[in-house]
Amino acid sequence: VAKGEGKGQWRRYQAALHNTFLERLELRAELDKAVARESFVVHYQPIVALDTGRAAGLEALVRWNHPERGVLTPDHFIAVAEESGLIVPIGNWVLAQALRDAAAWWRTLPADAAPYVSVNVSARQFRDAGFVASVRRHLTAAGLPPDRLVLEITESLLLRDDEQVRQDLATLRDIGVRVAIDDFGTGYSSLSYLRQVPADILKIEKSFIDSIAAHHQQRALVEGIMRLASTLDLTVIAEGIEHTADRDALAEVSCPYGQGYLFCRPLALPQVMDWLVGARQVAA
Ligand code: C2E
Ligand code: MG
Ligand code: MG
Ligand code: MG
Repeated sequence: VAKGEGKGQWRRYQAALHNTFLERLELRAELDKAVARESFVVHYQPIVALDTGRAAGLEALVRWNHPERGVLTPDHFIAVAEESGLIVPIGNWVLAQALRDAAAWWRTLPADAAPYVSVNVSARQFRDAGFVASVRRHLTAAGLPPDRLVLEITESLLLRDDEQVRQDLATLRDIGVRVAIDDFGTGYSSLSYLRQVPADILKIEKSFIDSIAAHHQQRALVEGIMRLASTLDLTVIAEGIEHTADRDALAEVSCPYGQGYLFCRPLALPQVMDWLVGARQVAA
């Protein structure tokens, strides 16, 4: 920084910091109110079988119905929700809502066509003392069979060698709830750690899926993950598929499930049933 300019730049830098801090404070206060008023909504994105195009499950993705800014996706507020701990009540609300919605699909559709619901759980929410009990309670209240629920966790939750986390995962799996490792490939998983992970599903992160058709190395990497998953008895979902060529390449390496804008964007609840019925007709 040139002398003379330094002071002005420093002030601008300070102003920017200050701004961000105030913005975060304000966001936090607004989020507090949103929790009290339950101003959230859950959208659902289909997880499809790549061979039939039918929905095996639906991922629950939270949105904030902001009074001035409209419907906000998680990138606008999840960081502040995590920092403040508000992710715990927000996550709990999403779980209850998602289980109620999944129970409605379960009651409406034939058993072999009723999709599971896949709910994202932050590390903080998972570590909260009442988490396992609240999953049980919400399942019972909704009347949904536990095998219609998948919980998506990230590698960061498993990184610390935490006995309580392992026990809780085991308890959930004992009652029939499945566990998916979200965004696989972006964390720090070592093979030895994966061996002991109590999970059922690997979701391969979008950056590994993009242009798998065009790049030989990318494809070899995904093939490696497929072999690893098969050794560990995990099923695989490819995230963020946008192009037919990538979908075809994934099918060629025997990836069973996928998710992405190519198939369907996240849907508001009223559109879900139409999509499910429509997709089934196409597949038939
Ligand atoms: P995620 O769990 O990995 O979810 C996938 C994200 O990728 C979603 O973004 C989805 O809309 C988006 N996506 C799906 N297909 C495509 C595609 O083909 N192309 C592109 N570019 N994007 C695609 P979204 O809904 O904005 O959610 C972002 C993240 O926020 C989620 O990533 C998840 O980590 C977090 N999140 C969402 N809902 C919840 C929740 O209820 N609780 C918690 N703790 N986290 C949540
Ligand atoms: Mg997810
Ligand atoms: Mg993901
Ligand atoms: Mg993600």
